[in-house]
Amino acid sequence: KRVLLTGANGFLGSHILSLLLKSSYSVRAIVRSQSKADQVRRDFPEAGASLDFGIVPDITFPHAFDSVIQSQPPFDAVIHTASPYLYAVASDNLRDFLEPAVKGTEEILRSIHSHAPSVKRVVMTSSMAAVLDFGAGDNGKIYTEKDWNPTTWEEAVEGNLGTGYRGSKKFAEKAAWDFISKEKPNFDLVVLCPPMIYGPLAHSIASIKDLNESNKRIYDLFINTSPSADLPPNGLYLYVDVRDIAHAHILSLTSPVAGNNRFLILAGQISSQQISDILRSKIPELEARTPVGKPGESGLPEGAFSAESEEARRVLGVEYRGAEETFGELGRELVGIEGRG
Ligand code: NDP
Repeated sequence: KRVLLTGANGFLGSHILSLLLKSSYSVRAIVRSQSKADQVRRDFPEAGASLDFGIVPDITFPHAFDSVIQSQPPFDAVIHTASPYLYAVASDNLRDFLEPAVKGTEEILRSIHSHAPSVKRVVMTSSMAAVLDFGAGDNGKIYTEKDWNPTTWEEAVEGNLGTGYRGSKKFAEKAAWDFISKEKPNFDLVVLCPPMIYGPLAHSIASIKDLNESNKRIYDLFINTSPSADLPPNGLYLYVDVRDIAHAHILSLTSPVAGNNRFLILAGQISSQQISDILRSKIPELEARTPVGKPGESGLPEGAFSAESEEARRVLGVEYRGAEETFGELGRELVGIEGRG
């Protein structure tokens, strides 16, 4: 079986690539430059001929994917993860978040539809950002696959970077569903909506400043700080381990009944207090660095919203590892990366 994977050099994309190769898929990894392809090749030296590359410098460009989607042997499926999430390199919501997310999605679907009739399944990484009503706060709501972020396009363009990113995920996913209903292509679509994704890296980075957005927050708020600091507010206390959401992408490639469905993929809730307790107990050197708070307390606000992930368990068979494993391994890795200078 042969798969095209976008965003293959990213935090999540690298874990998906690793699992695809372990599961004997042949993979074309799509990245933005030859130097990024070279890095992925170095990260997966055992891949050999099972891995080749397509360079797409600008995913918003019309027909951006037309040539890379054509392959011999042809592709059976596509996994689309590429979408901007780094706040540090963003300043304009339209240019830096919305257009790459939405146009990138439309372009890849259009190229598959026109040039790759062998593709029967597309798996897309959306986000709980496309699901949650961020203005509603802690109203005790349990979100499901039926919920949509109510942000309008204008709010997403004009709001702060957070609103822009969350809008980009909503409108990219909407664009994908619109494409399916209007074009009725030869493939079906599985959309996965994870909340915050944390966990160890499957790609190599030179230093802490190259961390992906979600893990960077753990570093900044829990490691590069002091034990007397206030515990950071935990903006979104739903999370999933990167290895489990990566596995959900693999499961989504083959489940016949998953087609044309959206799945919330989450391990559950976690508070800043719980993250701090795990980091401090698992990694001795963090006792002198991680904010203490009130150890042992739940730390979740009253009426904290949550979400239902039963559909993913039932249809895809997704399972989740425990928080101690996720944050313990991540914390240890972050301290190690920091040690490289
Ligand atoms: P990374 O920043 O590590 O990876 C993002 C990937 O997308 C990289 O390969 C990156 O390529 C590519 N990309 C970003 N912007 C563009 C662009 N303008 N044009 C082309 N390619 C681009 O982030 P994650 O691995 O965390 O994110 C992967 C997916 O998961 C995204 O769709 C994200 O929205 C989603 N997600 C992530 C969550 C998290 O907590 N991490 C939570 C929920 C959803 P390059 O290296 O060249 O920039």
